[in-house]
Amino acid sequence: MTIIKDFLLQITFIVIPIFIYYTFTYERVKCERNRVVIMSVLWGISIILCMSFPVVFGQNARLELRVIPLLFGTLYGGFWPGLFLSALIILYRLSFGVDIGFYNTLLVLIFSLPVIMFFQKSFARLKKDKRVKLAVGLAFYYCLIGLTFLGILRGFSIDHLIVPVIHLIFVVIVIWCFIMLIEAIREIHQLRLEMQNSEKLRVISELTSVFAHEIRNPMQVVRGFLQLLNEPGLSDKKKEYIQLSIEELDRSNQIINDLLSFGKPTINNNERIEVGYQLQRVVNIIQSYTQNANVMLKTDIFDNCWIYANIQKLNQCLINILKNAIESMPNGGVVWLTCNRTDDGYIKINIKDEGIGMTKEQIDRLGSPYYSLKESGTGLGMMVSYQIIHSFNGKIQVYSEKDKGTEFIILLPQIM
Ligand code: ADP
Ligand code: MG
Repeated sequence: MTIIKDFLLQITFIVIPIFIYYTFTYERVKCERNRVVIMSVLWGISIILCMSFPVVFGQNARLELRVIPLLFGTLYGGFWPGLFLSALIILYRLSFGVDIGFYNTLLVLIFSLPVIMFFQKSFARLKKDKRVKLAVGLAFYYCLIGLTFLGILRGFSIDHLIVPVIHLIFVVIVIWCFIMLIEAIREIHQLRLEMQNSEKLRVISELTSVFAHEIRNPMQVVRGFLQLLNEPGLSDKKKEYIQLSIEELDRSNQIINDLLSFGKPTINNNERIEVGYQLQRVVNIIQSYTQNANVMLKTDIFDNCWIYANIQKLNQCLINILKNAIESMPNGGVVWLTCNRTDDGYIKINIKDEGIGMTKEQIDRLGSPYYSLKESGTGLGMMVSYQIIHSFNGKIQVYSEKDKGTEFIILLPQIM
């Protein structure tokens, strides 16, 4: 009975940090860095508790689940949390004395931590089921290494290896359950965010379509009169003022156009579109823009990628994203535009630049109305683009690194 109690205790040490983190910090703490720090501290406490109250089998055989906090901390937190948690394990194990167990701990960490770190980068990009497989695989690898070293240090006898084998099975089962739990919590959170966003967008689109029309008409009148005022014989100063006024009016008009295209009621005029052909058209449209900006546009486009969408909207969305990519490279560079089919039934359009990039906070704000870091930006381009992609039942993913570049991945459901 005590063994079962001990196992349950170990599981509790892992459940508690998960719930504390996802209930109190995941949504409330906005700064990514602070979230990672809190996560590391929670997993650190979990490790210490797991190691302090192990499941004890007979003599000397200690069984604990510290690999689970270590793995979750590294996979969801990154390099530094991984390093911190490993150091914690080694230091805390050291306080128990230097014996075979300590060397085993040290060797296992040396051989498994680099592997976990290596997969950590791709972990963030994977889908749920692949994440689960990866985490379970890594846990299996960690335990297998532990088992091997224990065999080497103590000899490969049934007596010595029975406990590590039980450990391995137990860890794999527990990690599978917990990663499913974490992924489910994250999915619910994501869904809630999307709901909030779509509600926000709906309200904005209703308001803007009403206001935009009312403002545009008087503006057109003002522009007309300004042009009439601009007669020969005026002083240069006055001509300049008139020109400036017209330019500013045109800019406001551009903003209103963006808004209108966003607020337009979505009549369902979607049709079968060959994405490659549309991409080629977009490339032709944007060509002059790239030349002025000293940017090279490289394409790699698959044929026969069919989707169901609205041509104008798709083009508008692509142009918005391409323009941002070009504008992110003030000193010129290369923009890659590729399109291919994925195995799971999507057409994947990839737009990648080597520009100024964005921080995590900036990526999170992307798509919010009027969010712009440019002097003369409108902050509407991405909002419109996101809405368009969603209206095609598509998905958009953004990967960006400050000063390295940005990658936009648009996934649209493929049709035959
Ligand atoms: P605008 O281009 O008018 O500023 P957008 O909605 O198109 O508005 O973009 C919002 C902001 O997102 C931009 O001001 C910029 O800071 C950031 N952004 C968008 N795309 C990129 C990119 N490819 N590289 C770096 N920053 C980008
Ligand atoms: Mg833009």
